[in-house]
Amino acid sequence: MRPFTYTRATDAAMAITLRSRHPNARFLGGGTNLVDLMRENIEQPDTLVDVTALPLQEIRELADGGLSVGAAVKNTTLAADRRIRERYPLLAQAIVCGASGQIRNMATVGGNMMQRTRCCYFYDATANCNKRVPGSGCDAIDGFSRMHAILGASDHCIATHPSDMCVALAALDATVHVDGTAGARTIPFGLFHRLPGDTPHLETALQPDELITSVQVPPLTAAANSMYRKIRDRSSYAFALVSVAAAVATSDGLITDVRIALGGVAHRPWRALEAERILRGAPANDSAFQHAAEAELAAARPAKDNGFKIELARRTIVSVLRELTERGSAQ
Ligand code: SF4
Repeated sequence: MRPFTYTRATDAAMAITLRSRHPNARFLGGGTNLVDLMRENIEQPDTLVDVTALPLQEIRELADGGLSVGAAVKNTTLAADRRIRERYPLLAQAIVCGASGQIRNMATVGGNMMQRTRCCYFYDATANCNKRVPGSGCDAIDGFSRMHAILGASDHCIATHPSDMCVALAALDATVHVDGTAGARTIPFGLFHRLPGDTPHLETALQPDELITSVQVPPLTAAANSMYRKIRDRSSYAFALVSVAAAVATSDGLITDVRIALGGVAHRPWRALEAERILRGAPANDSAFQHAAEAELAAARPAKDNGFKIELARRTIVSVLRELTERGSAQ
């Protein structure tokens, strides 16, 4: 690991100023991914600005009935919050599906959003990787691609986003609040993470000196009937092959509201807007679920080893929607 300067910021303005003065600085949230990357010399910051002590640790009620979650709230705290478990169960379930208890105790909301892909070639300094060294190529495309993207990938990068929490936040239409030298602004969650295109090294909409301060989750009645299902190679401490975060409301056998996002399939949490469009107003039955899943996955382009993800995603979407609508109609 290269030597670096460490500073513990006590307020957001201090953190932003430090970051703006040191172009090769990084914010240190939970550090669970950044420190791994530093150990492998993938990330080599000259300055670490520790933001874990910032007063961004509150989960606050909003006037509209939503919740504001501070960027420094620990993943464990968020998943255990009664309001989250009752009003947004898909979010609590997604967080608990991620990593290990020890990591969730350290990881923060902002840090979780900023974690980087677990593509094995990204972590291998001897491999070609456009994300690590722009223009060097992508060894994953003709390499081992079982964990890689089937939606929204490019000829430059087929990596997936590793977060579970972010899939639920995408389904919930959360809003990211950031602050920087140019002032505060908000970013819709669906626009926060980027698709790879020809610049896979650019992963988010954040400017270099911008700090995530909070994530706001809007009120959503359908979210009370929601779930997160993660399909992975083992039942704990594994990244998603495919995951589905969904919320559904029904009335008289018809779907009145639905939110679906997929994980493990794209460079960012994949909001299934086409499936949602088809399902709104449709009968809550398997035929509609199949049609919606197939329409959403029609654009899938598998790599060498991950064609199975298309069928896996289709089946997972259908099974989640079936369970939610059966549960909803029984209430
Ligand atoms: Fe790098 Fe992306 Fe290719 Fe993986 S898939 S080797 S992260 S460019």
